[in-house]
Amino acid sequence: MSLIPKSHPRAKSLLIREKLVFGFDHGLVAKEGLLAQGRGEAFDYLLGEKTGKPAKLAIKAAAAQIMLAELPVISVNGNIAALCAKEIVRLAKQTGSKIEVNLFYSNEKRKNAIVKTLKKSGAKVILGTNFSTKAALSGIDSARRIVDKNGIFSSDVVIVPLEDGDRTLALRKAGKIVITFDLNPLSRTSQTANITIVDNVTRAMDLLIKNCKKLSKKNEKTLEKILRDFDNKKNLSDTINEIKNNLTKRSRNA
Ligand code: ATP
Ligand code: MG
Repeated sequence: MSLIPKSHPRAKSLLIREKLVFGFDHGLVAKEGLLAQGRGEAFDYLLGEKTGKPAKLAIKAAAAQIMLAELPVISVNGNIAALCAKEIVRLAKQTGSKIEVNLFYSNEKRKNAIVKTLKKSGAKVILGTNFSTKAALSGIDSARRIVDKNGIFSSDVVIVPLEDGDRTLALRKAGKIVITFDLNPLSRTSQTANITIVDNVTRAMDLLIKNCKKLSKKNEKTLEKILRDFDNKKNLSDTINEIKNNLTKRSRNA
């Protein structure tokens, strides 16, 4: 039970923190994951803690891209498992995506805790845990180069929420189409991915599932048009302008 009153002006943000701290206490989240959340929160503040128009456009494009994919894979780390395990399982079921656990700070114990959480949320098959199906992406030094042969390695589209810049680049170099969620429009991940959803993953994941459901009734041509009309670089500039406008308004009222 949470001790945070609903009426608290920062209740939502505090509840997210509570989930991460719970995840940390239960061995899912790395210390560094708590810091990453802090960096994200600062940008969320600047975005007005809401899903803006550019984010909505990116979510729609991401849904079209996932519906067009042959083998979409969702890459899960500790923060994502702590924040939206249920939504990950729902997204995978809705779109036929595979789920793979992939950690920057690799640690078997933590991996097992993440698998347990995903299973509790209804996941049946979780990749990234089988030693015999390990494969390595080239052009990356960290443990994150290790992926599952039947998952990320053979995927065409990878959904990587809260990813690190080096790995996003490695995935792109490996020919993958990368969809990311990142509150920081300036990060290397945001700038490198094919589709960047600049929004809090706790708000955007549900919207992505809804968009995938809606687009599942559309034909390929319609989906391809949605993708053609989307420009990630322009969308990122629009997001940066949104931040700028928010700050201008606030500076007037300061
Ligand atoms: P990069 O390596 O891509 O340049 P970085 O090193 O600045 O990014 P990391 O610590 O590698 O940042 O990754 C964490 C990223 O995840 C941050 O950019 C942060 O904005 C984002 N983030 C953290 N929590 C959330 C959240 N709840 N929803 C969306 N994004 C988040
Ligand atoms: Mg980084």
